[in-house]
Amino acid sequence: MILTLKLKLQTNKEQEQKLLKTMEAVNAACNYISDVAYEKQIANQYVLHKHCYYDIREKFGLSAQLAVRAIGKVKQAYKRDKKKHHIFKEHGAIAYDHRIWKFKMADTINLKTLDERIDIPFVFGDYRSIDIKRVRGQADLVYRDGVFYFYICIEVPEPPQAEPDDYLGIDLGIVSIATTSDGENFSGNQVNNLRARHASLRAKLQAKGTKSAKRLLKKRKRKETRFQRDVNHCISKKIVEQAKRTGRGIAIEDLIGIRDRIRVRKSQRRQQHSWSFYDLRTKLEYKALLAGVKLVAVDPRYTSQTCSQCGYISKANRPSQSTFSCKSCNFSVNADYNAALNIRGRVAVNQPNAVSIEAKAPKQLLLLGVNCGGA
Ligand SMILES: [Zn+2]
Repeated sequence: MILTLKLKLQTNKEQEQKLLKTMEAVNAACNYISDVAYEKQIANQYVLHKHCYYDIREKFGLSAQLAVRAIGKVKQAYKRDKKKHHIFKEHGAIAYDHRIWKFKMADTINLKTLDERIDIPFVFGDYRSIDIKRVRGQADLVYRDGVFYFYICIEVPEPPQAEPDDYLGIDLGIVSIATTSDGENFSGNQVNNLRARHASLRAKLQAKGTKSAKRLLKKRKRKETRFQRDVNHCISKKIVEQAKRTGRGIAIEDLIGIRDRIRVRKSQRRQQHSWSFYDLRTKLEYKALLAGVKLVAVDPRYTSQTCSQCGYISKANRPSQSTFSCKSCNFSVNADYNAALNIRGRVAVNQPNAVSIEAKAPKQLLLLGVNCGGA
């Protein structure tokens, strides 16, 4: 499996200036190439190279490789859409290939800038050591909210999957982000509180409508997304560890179940929740794959209305959002926990109902460096 690792660069002021200058020169060159590509309707690397290579090296002071990458970036844009005149942002991401970057040490990379090569220390959370031999293809330098990130691709071996006798059932929700069939519960309070705080601030900023208010809005939005990602990372890590430690597989609802679960009215909130479910699920999938833990998706119908003890199905079994109380056998328990037990039960007793998603797992995944605070 190919993972994308995100390294957070620890630049000092001088290095930051050098990287910014490089980014600005490459993107200015891209706009120069873009004018040619648009005017002459070219989306071919070789032809663009012929037209622009020497010009951009001279005008923008680019090294051979940075010039080639700039041409490549413009070519890709015009390959996607030739009818549009593409404009490249001053601080848009730029690509690095193996000729212009390398690992200097386990925690330092060496990058080419306009003037010289510089060594920059980096941090990342999840993978403590990178096997340099497994790094693949091109990397990207990204500048966001005053911080540089370097994205690299790395090939990670997948351990063989054991065939488990039992599964850890996972119920996903909004009030509780995840509840396991062991009775463990991951609250959504932190995320939901932050969201609520941002929502009231958002209303104020939108009323203002100024340019700086809009910028602040975007920044808040990114912060919210980042926070949610961190939370999802920690939850999925704990779940996979728990399953691995106890020699079990993981059972979750398939996507239809997740979609039905989102019963919020406002479309914006709906979008946010479906994104978060998808993110958590993706993280569970690749972490399970890396740990050699089997993950299956089960038919989600009636998991919330079915009694996990006697199998009686009724809407009346669910008197409130948080309570499950069976009208037939009087089994009473937290509603999410009951659903998690049902999800576990479905795969354990009825294997054909379960769809193994190992084959469907996306080839390339984004791995984010986050610390789980003692996890
Ligand atoms: Zn019952």
